[in-house]
Amino acid sequence: MSTPRATARVDAAAIRHNVAELRSRVASGQLLAVVKADGYGHGLLTAATAAVAGGAQWLGTALLQEALELRAAGLTQPRVVAWLLDPDDDWDAALRGDIDLSANDAATVAAVAGAAARTGRPARLHLKIDTGLGRAGSPADRWAELVDAALRAQAEGVLEVVGLWSHLAYADAPHHPTTDHQIEAFRAAVDTAERAGARPEVRHLANSAATLTRPDAHFDLVRPGLAVYGLSPIPDQADSSTLGLRPALTLTARLGLVKRVPAGQGVSYLHRYTTKRPTTLGLVPLGYADGVPRNATNVGPVLAAGARRTIAGTVCMDQFVLDLGDDPAQAGDEVVLFGPGDDGEPTAEDWARATGTISYEIVTRLGPRLSRVVVGADGIAG
Ligand SMILES: *Cc1c(COP(=O)(O)O)cnc(C)c1O
Repeated sequence: MSTPRATARVDAAAIRHNVAELRSRVASGQLLAVVKADGYGHGLLTAATAAVAGGAQWLGTALLQEALELRAAGLTQPRVVAWLLDPDDDWDAALRGDIDLSANDAATVAAVAGAAARTGRPARLHLKIDTGLGRAGSPADRWAELVDAALRAQAEGVLEVVGLWSHLAYADAPHHPTTDHQIEAFRAAVDTAERAGARPEVRHLANSAATLTRPDAHFDLVRPGLAVYGLSPIPDQADSSTLGLRPALTLTARLGLVKRVPAGQGVSYLHRYTTKRPTTLGLVPLGYADGVPRNATNVGPVLAAGARRTIAGTVCMDQFVLDLGDDPAQAGDEVVLFGPGDDGEPTAEDWARATGTISYEIVTRLGPRLSRVVVGADGIAG
């Protein structure tokens, strides 16, 4: 049996813990775990199953295809909402799969109503208002028209308006004044819809940061993504452990080659690193094709041979190099790129800082060549 060269290890128990922790902060106790983009790189079904075991009553995806995969895998209990829809999506399949859909405009309401008439299954619709993000959602001046179209279809029995919702712009600065304006605009939109006769099950606005820091944005249901995976959405203010969260993803690799080289040895493409003295180089078989950012060149942090190191020279497609000094190491030794940070290893947030991005990007960009392992799933069905 061969040992994989590199492994993304997902701790399902950490996801369960994070969902329970987040739910405990929400008065309604209603939580939608966002599992889009392959569960933020943790595996769609791994993330969904663990989130449900942790108490999530709802799951959220961007694409309809992701939502249908959850149903196909046997996750029939949780409500599933898909929101990044395409006019050519298979609306009939969405309704047969009991997927809640989001509508930004009257055209989507018409498409969904048509599918409901064909399949005999009334749709469950969440009407989305743009309260200031300037991305998806109905502009405020078209909101009454959207509500009207949806309520007329509801009166015909082809759909039910089950949700009213919006999304925040300052995801990492939940106390920005724009958040206050968005909460206000959302309340006004809800008011308009309810006065027109809407009786939604859930009104929802909060992402991870607002779930953790803005109870006034919780409404009936919160929609955290990043925090479900144990990463801090507000890294400048609080790290994971301060927030009571446990990072779920650990990325490790095994040294492929260890060799002594003299002083003055240029390392990797373009010799952006040169050894200062005779030293040991360790080759790590992970590169930008696996999700290690190329701009981690000379800055990416790695725990190897008992100490934190910085990547030596250019990150290549399949590999990069570490300067291990005179520390003992051999081919096959494990190195850790990131993990929870408990044993001296860097975190995904450390990688984000080193490479000028956000931890969301670090975890979602891992490539398909990695071996994937789930731990801590004991006792969870599926
Ligand atoms: C991705 C997403 C979320 C989750 O955001 P986080 O910052 O990861 O908590 C919530 N709602 C919508 C509409 C999203 O697209």
